[in-house]
Amino acid sequence: MTKTNARQNLPSVDALLRSTIVQDLIPKLGLPASTDLIRYVLEELRNGLSESNSPTNDGDVMALGREALYTEALKRIGNYSAAERLRGLRRVINATGVILHTNLGRAPLAKSVQRAMVEQAGGYCTLEYDLETGARGRRGKKAKELLAELTGAEAGVIVNNGAAAALLVLTVLTEGKEVVLSRGELVEIGGDFRIPDVMLSSGAELKEVGTTNRTKLADYEKAITPNTVMLMRVHPSNYRLVGFTAAPELKDLAELAHARGLWLYEDAGSGALIDLAPYGLTGEPLIRESIAAGADVVSFSGDKLMGGMQAGLIVGRADLIDRIRRHPLYRALRPDKTTLAAVEATLAIYRRGVELTEIPALAMLAADASTIKARAESLLARVTEDRKAELTIELTPGESAIGGGSAPTTHPPTCLIALKSSTLSAARLAAKLRQHDPPVIGRIVDDRVVLDLRTVAETEEIELLNALERLER
Ligand SMILES: *Cc1c(COP(=O)(O)O)cnc(C)c1O
Repeated sequence: MTKTNARQNLPSVDALLRSTIVQDLIPKLGLPASTDLIRYVLEELRNGLSESNSPTNDGDVMALGREALYTEALKRIGNYSAAERLRGLRRVINATGVILHTNLGRAPLAKSVQRAMVEQAGGYCTLEYDLETGARGRRGKKAKELLAELTGAEAGVIVNNGAAAALLVLTVLTEGKEVVLSRGELVEIGGDFRIPDVMLSSGAELKEVGTTNRTKLADYEKAITPNTVMLMRVHPSNYRLVGFTAAPELKDLAELAHARGLWLYEDAGSGALIDLAPYGLTGEPLIRESIAAGADVVSFSGDKLMGGMQAGLIVGRADLIDRIRRHPLYRALRPDKTTLAAVEATLAIYRRGVELTEIPALAMLAADASTIKARAESLLARVTEDRKAELTIELTPGESAIGGGSAPTTHPPTCLIALKSSTLSAARLAAKLRQHDPPVIGRIVDDRVVLDLRTVAETEEIELLNALERLER
């Protein structure tokens, strides 16, 4: 058959549009995108090309007859639309055991927080409206009040994330003047957040003092000039200095700052609202303690140890918070109604004193290894004998992690489900689990895929079990 004849065998755009596959696709992709996809596939076939992501095809597609070409076109349309779907934002099962997994969206939200967000998202709300007077009200008033109450600060303000909070505080309060900071705190948090760079963007002048491992109060004192406005403390978050180290207490820094007419600002990073030491988490600043120690302004993230929505929370002296709120940069960084609804609902959980059970990240942190082991055992008991014959599945002790750039030295003991296949490498096995719907994300340790139920909700266990059972042989 000549090429020209073969081209006449190609199905028409209309014929493909009428197919069940494309008819199912139209509500999801829309008619224009579905038509574009058909044209793309037809062009590929017309040029005798193999599917762009299929190495198996030899490119001899134009030797196919009319029927076979139609089938081939539909197959490609199906494949491309499935690949397209994988690129979108999807719910996944986090079986990595990393509680605040930044790449997987950090903190999962509490039920009451999800409800609050959905309720405000779908309609109008009192975002900046006072129901008593019928006039304009303060944006996110209740969330800010709860924030102040729970941290013991005079006032609070909320922006989009912790990085925005640091940029805003430095920009507004320094006005280009000097900020004194220890060389041991010139850190990079990850995702391109580097303290010296934020300082530069804010226009503040960075005055480094001390050394990487040791900085004394006298170092700060000597660095103060008439142009200094602020002392800054940054929580190193994702790394720890051990051994021959020294840093002044926050209280002493605050005393020095105030004696010299300066402000003390702490970027607390994760920042905990309650003491998490009983769960093995030490060395994270407690926001209430930072305020009590005399910090004038403290900022922290909403989706790290607080366990809520992505947000940047700023608390401190009322006059300083007021200046921050009036600055044009605040207007550019302020969050929307759903974020404010989430922050308000999260703080309300803390106020009710039920955070350890209702906030998923904290409940995961507090879960002990024996509870996780019992869950893993009952899941394993539900795996079919057929499956167990093909996959070696063992329970083994291991460690979970906090993630989100918090508490790098804290590794809660856990019980791992370790998988080994007789035919597939660990990498292939992990890839197959990611192809499941919903995708299951595990870790590879010692050539085995390990799954940690600490970060898997009980409601997801059945889906995880399905993923194991349906693993392609
Ligand atoms: C995580 C962190 C930030 C950035 O907060 P995001 O909410 O991720 O933007 C800033 N400073 C410190 C010390 C941090 O640990």
